[in-house]
This record gives sequence, structure tokens and C-alpha cells, in this order.
Amino acid sequence: MKKVVIIGSGLGGLATALRLAALGCQVTVIEKYSQPGGRLNQIRFDGFTFDLGPSFMSMSYELKEFFADCGVENPLELQELDPLYQVFFEGRPGPYRIWKNLSRLEEEFKGIEPRLAFKAGRYLKRAGEFYHDTQPVVIKNNFYGYADYLSKLSRVPVKHLPFLFQNMWQSAAGAFSSKELRMVFSLVAFFLGTTPFRTPAIYSLLNYVEFQHDGYWAVKGGMYRIVEALVKILKEKGVDFVFDAEIKKVVAAGNKAVGVEDKKGNLWGADIFICNADAASFRGEVLRRVRYQPRRLDRMSWGMAPFTVYLGVKEKIKNLQYHNYFLGNNFQEYAGKIFTSKMSPEKPYYYVHVPSKFREDCAPPGGEGVFILCPVPDLRFKKDWSDKEELARHIILDLSNRINFDISKNIIARRILTPRDWEEMLGLYQGSGLSLCHGLDQVGALRPRNKDEQLENFYYVGASTIPGGGLPMVVIGSKLTLERIQNDHALS
Ligand SMILES: Cc1cc2nc3c(=O)[nH]c(=O)nc-3n(C[C@H](O)[C@H](O)[C@H](O)COP(=O)(O)OP(=O)(O)OC[C@H]3O[C@@H](n4cnc5c(N)ncnc54)[C@H](O)[C@@H]3O)c2cc1C
Repeated sequence: MKKVVIIGSGLGGLATALRLAALGCQVTVIEKYSQPGGRLNQIRFDGFTFDLGPSFMSMSYELKEFFADCGVENPLELQELDPLYQVFFEGRPGPYRIWKNLSRLEEEFKGIEPRLAFKAGRYLKRAGEFYHDTQPVVIKNNFYGYADYLSKLSRVPVKHLPFLFQNMWQSAAGAFSSKELRMVFSLVAFFLGTTPFRTPAIYSLLNYVEFQHDGYWAVKGGMYRIVEALVKILKEKGVDFVFDAEIKKVVAAGNKAVGVEDKKGNLWGADIFICNADAASFRGEVLRRVRYQPRRLDRMSWGMAPFTVYLGVKEKIKNLQYHNYFLGNNFQEYAGKIFTSKMSPEKPYYYVHVPSKFREDCAPPGGEGVFILCPVPDLRFKKDWSDKEELARHIILDLSNRINFDISKNIIARRILTPRDWEEMLGLYQGSGLSLCHGLDQVGALRPRNKDEQLENFYYVGASTIPGGGLPMVVIGSKLTLERIQNDHALS
């Protein structure tokens, strides 16, 4: 029986643990934080329960396929979201609901975007073709070197080449005449941790994923149900968990890892090691690889840092739905500096999630839990977050005005997390919430690999290795990592 140590209990680590436990491996998961889940975590205080970060699932079929692969009954119940979300535009009486049905969407934007259903249908058809032509090649494959990557890329039909020479904003601007629809169709760039002006148009495939392919899903009981369910199954299969243990050293004998050591000096040995901590910064900070030294890490493109506020509110808020976006009028100017500014945004754009719209038990009776996520510069650009109260006040005031409900008067519980907190809690590099970005220079074989360059029994899984970040991606990544391991080792 192979002994496996997994460093980190994010979704990538847990999914890989289950794949290996299902094959009979003896798995130990070692986690820096006090509880499992990584970014897919949970906080509870003063009678309120919040998911720490992720608030929806896309490509839900990946979870189903994952449980089937592991021979385990899917313990999760998902609920489809339609409208997908609602948007408040500055200066327009809102909100606008983003329906999956394009005729209904056209009705919602009547007087703003003529022939919307036709235009969106045409846009999504093209994005859908791109999705189906590239997904099996680029997302669901391991790459065994650059030549292999190029050979796999050559299977993508050349008709998609124009996608490479446009950004998402240009692509949306070509399809829609109003700035509102251009914004709606380029919001997904923020899910990649960047802006539509810096994201290649290829990612319009995510518009197809949200509107037509599978949509967005809430998990019944909250997103943390995914972690609770996985940990329960893993424990039943004999997987061990160690918490509050940050791995600081990998002990090697020749080109093999033999142990990992935490900062208190505890040592764990195994036949195979898998790192679910960040695949780039772990190589630099723990393995001391030249290519990933701080100066080089800082030159890479990292996804937006989160500024998150968790509010316990004593009354129900009628104008908010499950997912809500609050956008201003200066989209391009805002996006141009938000990720590189030394200052907190003066008039922030932000996202609001209200889990209690679906789930009564996460707030005391009659109350509402409100989660606010504002994308901000990471710690490379803005180190000092002593202005966090001011930024939170700004956002709460703006939100109150736009939904016509005085939130400050109704707050009974409150927490704020800055990029510094996210870094300290979960080891996120420079507080980047979405890990390495997905520009053309950081995808496929150009992303940190899921097998170590020097240690033959050391692998990676998670947002900064292939295929990339986001919950479905790290689940796919766990399959790719397993495939790598199986190529190298007989597991049963
Ligand atoms: C605010 C926010 C909102 C998001 N919303 C969504 C969403 O709605 N939908 C979606 O699909 N995605 C969302 N994402 C992205 C998603 O959360 C991530 O892509 C995904 O959870 C990453 O999982 P992972 O396994 O790669 O890493 P992580 O979740 O980061 O897990 C890595 C684990 O390794 C541990 N670790 C790190 N270093 C060490 C060490 N040295 N020793 C031991 N343990 C260590 C960490 O503590 C952590 O538990 C969101 C992210 C953020 C920040």
C-alpha cells in the first residue's frame, strides 16, 4: 500500500486525497489552517455562518463525474440559479436581472440593447464552438513538454485564431452596442482574477458556460457542504488529517522526496507527496527553486486580491438577491488601475452575496448574512491595509444608497478580511485570491507543472498548476495529477 502525504486541504488536495484513497493508498493530509477547505472555507460568529470565499459552482457535472470516478455516491444537492445574478449600474434604476433565457434577458434590457436575444445568441454560439473545440484539448490534458503542448494545440481549428488577437472587452464591444451589455458579458474576466481589458477573448467561452452550457449552481446547505461531505467520506476511508501544521521543508534523498517537515519540526514520511499549496510560490519559498524566487514570482501575473466583509444584519433586505454586482460608470478607467494602485479604490466596484436568501440556518431568525467581495490590489502594490475600516464604510454606505436600505443601522455582527489576512490564513501569495492568472503565457504547458522538475515522487494540484483556478478546474486538476502519478507509480 502506497503512503501518500498531501500538503494542503483545499478542494484540490481533498479531491486528490479521495481519488488516491479510492485506489487503496494510505493518505495523510497536512494543513496549515485550523480547519479543512482552503479558500472553500467557512467562518462562523455571533450566530451567523458564512462561506469564506466561493459562492457558486459552475460546470457542476465535474463534481458528479468526480464522485463517480471515485466510486462514491454524490452526497451534494445543487440548486440551479436563474437569474444567474443581478446587476446594479450606476445612474440606472436597478437592479437588472441576468436571465439565462435570452428573450427574457432582452425584455429586461428593453430600451437599452435592441435585438439583444439575437446578438447574445450569435455571441454565445461562437463562444460555445470554441469551448467544445478547446476544452478536451487544453483543459482536460496533461502536457509532457512544450512539443506535446504545441501538438495538442494544433488540434484546435484555425477558425478560432481571431480570439487570440482580441481582448474580452473588444469582443463584447463588437457584439453589443450598450455599455451595460458589454459589462455584463465581460464580468466573467473578474472570475479569472483579472479585467476584460487584459483577458484574451478566448475566455468568452465562460459566457457560454454561464448562460448555456451548465449555468451557476448553489450548493444546498452552503458551499462548505462540499468540504464537510468530502472530509466525512475521507475519514471513513481512513484518511488522516493534521491541522495547524505549516510545511516549511521538503527532505530529499537524491532525486526523491522522503519527508516533509512543519515549522514545529514534525516530520512526515511517504512514498508520494502532493502539494496543494500554491504550485509557484511553494517552489520558490520552500523548495528554493531559482525560477520561482520572490523577484520572479512578483513578475508573474497574479489574480486579484480579495477585500471581504462579512455582515450580520438584523433585518431581511428585500432588494438584494443571492448574487449581486454593483458597477460604476468608469469601467475601463477603474479596471485599468484597480489591480496596481497603492490606494484603496475611492468608488469601489463590488459583489454582494446573500447566502441567507437560500439558507435560513446561516442567520438568526429574521436576519440576513451579507458577504461583500471587493477586488483590490495585492500586497505587491498595496501593503498597508490600516485603512480597511474606511474602505468597508465606503462600500456599506454606497450599498445602502443603491438598495435603499440603511445597512449600518442594522449591523449586529461584522468581520473584515484584507489581502494580508488571506495571505496569513491560507498562504496565498501576496494575498492573491485567485492565484496565477490565465493569460496565454500562463496556461497549459506554460503554467507551473503538476509534476516537480527535480523530485520524481513530488506532484502538485490546485489553482496555480494546470488547468487553473476555480472550483471545477481544481477538480479536473486532481484527475490530471492522478494520471501523472499513475504513469510513474503502480498504485495497487
Ligand atoms: C473571495 C474568493 C471567491 C471565490 N469565488 C469562487 C466561486 O464562487 N466559484 C469558484 O469556482 N471559485 C471561486 N474562487 C476560487 C476558488 O476558491 C479557488 O480556485 C479554489 O478554492 C482553489 O483551491 P485549491 O485547492 O487550489 O487551493 P486552496 O483552497 O488555496 O487550498 C490550499 C490549502 O493549502 C494550505 N497550505 C498552503 N501552504 C501550506 C503549507 N506550507 N503547509 C500546509 N498547508 C498549506 C492552505 O492553508 C489551504 O488550505 C474564489 C476565490 C476567492 C478568494
